[in-house]
Amino acid sequence: NINIGILALQGAFAEHQAALQKLSCQKKLAIILVRTAEDLSTCDALIIPGGESTTIALLAKLSGLLEPLRTFLQQKPVWGTCAGAILLAQAVENTKKGGQELLGGISVTVARNGWGSQVESFEAPLLVDGLRDPKISFTGVFIRAPVLLALHPSTWNPPIEIIARLPPDLMPKSQNMPACDDGPHDPQSIVAVRQGRHMLTTFHPELTKDSRFHEYFVRTCVLPTLL
Ligand code: GLN
Repeated sequence: NINIGILALQGAFAEHQAALQKLSCQKKLAIILVRTAEDLSTCDALIIPGGESTTIALLAKLSGLLEPLRTFLQQKPVWGTCAGAILLAQAVENTKKGGQELLGGISVTVARNGWGSQVESFEAPLLVDGLRDPKISFTGVFIRAPVLLALHPSTWNPPIEIIARLPPDLMPKSQNMPACDDGPHDPQSIVAVRQGRHMLTTFHPELTKDSRFHEYFVRTCVLPTLL
């Protein structure tokens, strides 16, 4: 069995659980809702759900999970969605005074709520090469999503692989950060990346009925670490 943990302090953890239960390999998976360091210690991989990254970080701190999570990241695959993606970033902007704890793991800078208040939520069809049936678009659900501001080449070890971008014609104008005029190649259009065994998506695959991203995480990030 592969033990997949889902950080279950706050946010959409039940939806991730439902998505994993739909995978064809689900009989080989044990799903663990992680609330303590002891729960975490039994996991082969972890998903950090969407929700509110400041709240998740605070609850992780209060539960004594921050350091165990950082250690876990050095050894095992982790996937963060939306708020979870923020926690996996190396640096974050748009956080209120005092900042927030991050776990790191992926060499990017993100802006919280980067699309601004006018476009708090939107959906966009994403064409993603690595997924099963790549010609069928994946509906990206963005809810007060973070925006990628920068990838950091100096710390690219292993390299960052871009998995999905927003189509240029569907990219909302981001409001909470400086304009970037690199056209379709600017980091703001990047909505999913993988770096080594870790992955982040700024949208919520767990809020759709489509579990291809869950399958992708298990296949490309988790299974290779178990061989
Ligand atoms: N805006 C939230 C945050 O900053 C993320 C939103 C989400 O996960 N849907 O943590």
